[in-house]
Amino acid sequence: MKRDKAIFDLIEKEKQRQEAGIELIASENFTSPQVMKAQGSVLTNKYAEGLPGKRYYGGCEVVDEVEQLAIDRAKELFGAEWANVQPHSGAQANAAVMLACLKPGDRILGFDLSHGGHLTHGSPVNFSGKLYQPSFYGVEQATGLIDFDKVIETAEREQPKMIICGASAYSRDWDYKKLREAADNVGALLLADISHPAGLIARGLLNDPMEHCHIVTTTTHKTLRGPRGGMILVGKNFDNPWGLKTPKGELRKITSVLDSGVFPGTQGGPLEHVIAAKAVSFQEALSDDYMEYILQVSKNAKVMAQAFLNKGYKIISGGTDNHLMLIDLRSKKLTGKQAEEGLIQADITINKNMVPFDTQSPMITSGMRIGTPAITTRGLKEKDVEKVVDLIDEALQKPEDPKHLKAVKRKVNRFMEKFPLY
Ligand code: PLP
Repeated sequence: MKRDKAIFDLIEKEKQRQEAGIELIASENFTSPQVMKAQGSVLTNKYAEGLPGKRYYGGCEVVDEVEQLAIDRAKELFGAEWANVQPHSGAQANAAVMLACLKPGDRILGFDLSHGGHLTHGSPVNFSGKLYQPSFYGVEQATGLIDFDKVIETAEREQPKMIICGASAYSRDWDYKKLREAADNVGALLLADISHPAGLIARGLLNDPMEHCHIVTTTTHKTLRGPRGGMILVGKNFDNPWGLKTPKGELRKITSVLDSGVFPGTQGGPLEHVIAAKAVSFQEALSDDYMEYILQVSKNAKVMAQAFLNKGYKIISGGTDNHLMLIDLRSKKLTGKQAEEGLIQADITINKNMVPFDTQSPMITSGMRIGTPAITTRGLKEKDVEKVVDLIDEALQKPEDPKHLKAVKRKVNRFMEKFPLY
């Protein structure tokens, strides 16, 4: 077969882009070469509908071992009793859980998208807002923090069947105990979507949802630094709290209900090459090197937040407990769109983001979200992070001046040469 020059040239170009710039998108990271090797392997050739030992296809002996290793390592990493590592993405994991546990029209309560929540937690443009009846809790305008006592009140008013916690742009920790109280008061299931801070949770740097939440979902590619994908976890045996029965009238196990939410509920064949890469990344995440890494992610985020505050930027909630921060640019007379478009010309990648109670549209926004997982993988430490904030601030002095941004870009490219990627 002729080499596909067009595609491989583009892959090389993307590699150069990733190497030259400062990557601050909070949901991105750089996987290890062995994660990529597992993902680019012959396992992509194999169909394996079903679960290890219970497949609908022959020839699954090897992928059974691969998937079982991924499951065992996921359980060890998160202290879970059960894991399904098949969801193709975080959105798929949430879709599978909701399909398994809810009926169309059921009420759900999630964290407001415009305050930092995720589309799959009840947005009207997503399946979760189309199939179920969503209501939302948010942050307090004065503090930028979630008041968990208010969530208890909101749950009592809204009577949801499921409460969803977790976010894409919330820089503080979650009170899972209070959320469980909110759920128990109304007989709701509590789902924690820990896609963003999963790595910090796994290594004990944040509160542990596994103790209190019925079900936990996560992506595997953010702080966890695995391949793009999702998974579902269950902690202590919350066995079938909603009393679902089999056609024969027997109580079903929560885990088998969740398994069937993934397949055949929302997916076909699992991506065993991605599952192998997940397994590799889970083993990495259990290592001392990763512990050092994730501690540095957290330290870098705190130093970065302070450096922004020192330069007069406003951070929602005043700082960060995790790997990201949400910056309100209104005090700098900038929109998120201006910042994103200006910074990209300087080879600095961030994303524009709504801030709570935003006065701009989602396409413009008043904020930017910044995270430290990817730059920490590149090897940046506290002093380097201060330099990154200097470069961002310099670029944002004239975010619509191409000449100025080109000069900053040269500095960015020179700076990043010190931190080789692959
Ligand atoms: N849940 C949360 C909290 C997220 O932040 C994201 C992605 O940003 C997802 C789910 C969806 O993950 P994916 O893009 O893998 O579908």
